[in-house]
Amino acid sequence: MSSNVGQNYPYTSETEADRSAAIASLVKTRDGLAAKLAAETTPLDANERWWVWKCPTTGCPGLLHVGGYAAEKHAVYVVCDGTCGKTFLR
Ligand SMILES: [Zn+2]
Repeated sequence: MSSNVGQNYPYTSETEADRSAAIASLVKTRDGLAAKLAAETTPLDANERWWVWKCPTTGCPGLLHVGGYAAEKHAVYVVCDGTCGKTFLR
């Protein structure tokens, strides 16, 4: 019952500088990610720290960094920095 819920708890947090650096390097290395973020997210508010989640993909060691607010939902749009390369809403 609680195992699904557990995945949605943040794993750690990072500074805005770390978050923006992580997203910037992901955008550089992944084709189409910049366009996806531009189309599906709205810009973030100024915050000093952001949550980081563990990637829920089986076998993926990645962490999920906040890329923006989801355009149509009340959620943050996160990008995996690991092998699966997926995006999620949190
Ligand atoms: Zn992943």
